[in-house]
Amino acid sequence: MRIRVLDIAYQTMADGPGLRTSIYCAGCKHACKGCHNPQSWDFNAGKWMEVDELLDIIKADSMSNVSFSGGDPMYQAPAFTELARRIKEETGKTIWCWTGFTLEEVQADPVMAAMLPYLDVLVDGPFILEQRDTDLLFRGSPNQRIIYLHGDPPSDDIPGTVPLEPLR
Ligand code: SF4
Repeated sequence: MRIRVLDIAYQTMADGPGLRTSIYCAGCKHACKGCHNPQSWDFNAGKWMEVDELLDIIKADSMSNVSFSGGDPMYQAPAFTELARRIKEETGKTIWCWTGFTLEEVQADPVMAAMLPYLDVLVDGPFILEQRDTDLLFRGSPNQRIIYLHGDPPSDDIPGTVPLEPLR
């Protein structure tokens, strides 16, 4: 399986706690006003990369966890689900994923929802320019939630973190 990849950031501290390998995919239809990365909307931007190739890059950095961003990874859900499943089965790394869909929208779509078992954290919802708050960590507007999908957030949790009872 292949993912259309716009860019990869190595050992970044911008996309979740600690060092992370961030996979920025191409393609987004949410068209949020004030989007930080409108060049990522084009589904033909970047280049195709095999899941195996991405997995090798992720595994090569023993220090870094993993983040999926874009663009919106949910538009390439089957391939990202495969990558996330392999990361969970073959490494001990955590996965944070950003999407312009709300969790409820993801849960309502079986193709997108298939990724959820393999993600640790979903940062959900569109960016709302009128609510922009540059003090927020890892999100642009307060409607976006940092959702720990399978357990309690860490005790030093990040403001905006939402523990999620129904998925436990
Ligand atoms: S979901 Fe993210 S990438 Fe897509 S338009 Fe909104 S802010 Fe931009």
